[in-house]
Amino acid sequence: MSKYFSEKYNDLIPYVPGEQPKDMKYVKLNTNESPFPPSKKAQEYASDAAKLLALYPDPDCTILREKMAALYNLDKDEIVIVNGSDEILNFAFMAYCDDKTPAAFADITYGFYPVFAKINKVPYVEIPLNDNYEINVDDYIGINKTIFIANPNAPTGIALSLDNIEKIIASNPNNIVVIDEAYVDFGAQSAVNLIRKYDNLLVTQTFSKSRSMAGARLGMGFANKKLIQDINTIRYSTNPYNVNRMTMAAGIGTIEDNDYMVNNCKTIIQNREYTINKLNELGFVTLPSKTNFVFTKNEKFSGEYLYKKLKENGVLVRYFNKARLDKYLRITIGSKQDMDVLIEKLIKIMEESK
Ligand code: PMP
Repeated sequence: MSKYFSEKYNDLIPYVPGEQPKDMKYVKLNTNESPFPPSKKAQEYASDAAKLLALYPDPDCTILREKMAALYNLDKDEIVIVNGSDEILNFAFMAYCDDKTPAAFADITYGFYPVFAKINKVPYVEIPLNDNYEINVDDYIGINKTIFIANPNAPTGIALSLDNIEKIIASNPNNIVVIDEAYVDFGAQSAVNLIRKYDNLLVTQTFSKSRSMAGARLGMGFANKKLIQDINTIRYSTNPYNVNRMTMAAGIGTIEDNDYMVNNCKTIIQNREYTINKLNELGFVTLPSKTNFVFTKNEKFSGEYLYKKLKENGVLVRYFNKARLDKYLRITIGSKQDMDVLIEKLIKIMEESK
């Protein structure tokens, strides 16, 4: 750190993204990316948009919002488009948390929440998951804090039912509840249809996972118009051109090609269930996943050991060096071939360590 770096960031520990190694070609199952390319239309539209890169993009993302409004049966003013859902999560911390209104989220959840809290100087409480790594709904009833819930949760993969999500929203009418649905397309129930019923609900989603666009950085928020105005106040005060032309065009192509996404999700869900069964046969215990990843452990090995051995064998997965998580591996669900390589390498590693 330089001597010029502001003291206000003394306690800031940046988020650590998953490894993106360049040393060799891995079967990459560590950052919950899609094994499928973006839709053909997304690729075509993005390359057409490249010709217009001399011009600023539409700061309102009007066409993309109109297409999404039609798909989700909403008004376009109930939607905001952002540079990856990380951006809108940060905006929500900026807009809805302060000394008087602390943030609350699970002790085991998306690792960026505490970082957003710290950079925005927001006090926060971490609410422990129960022994089964689930959210205890009663802990979130009427708590007078801005609530952030990843549903399904990461890195556990476990989803909360819509009834339970609704109970939490309804019991906190004076506070915003943010439901982070980064993985919702892989089998969980979305809260988007509740935005007209509850004016304190903000739902965030991303094009990074189910829509195969992690590299483009595109996310969105759904909420009643007033909340969308709040988010736009923050957005226009930081970076109005937050979504570049190529990304916006690719997003439009993806929405027009929605069936492609739906079919890819079906394949991922099949591959997930296949992988869970194979892991089960090898003595792994896997938490029930509604995402494009599984959180799994084998009592005979530490998470770190398996992570290192898999990496040596060309398979990259994610391991968290943290209490209650360190026995586990988080493994992204890729193609069937990817998952077969994973299982084959696990069998080899387990044989060798006998
Ligand atoms: N929420 C959760 C729970 C995530 O795991 C991720 C991906 N790292 C994000 C949000 C952010 O995704 P993106 O910024 O790519 O939309």
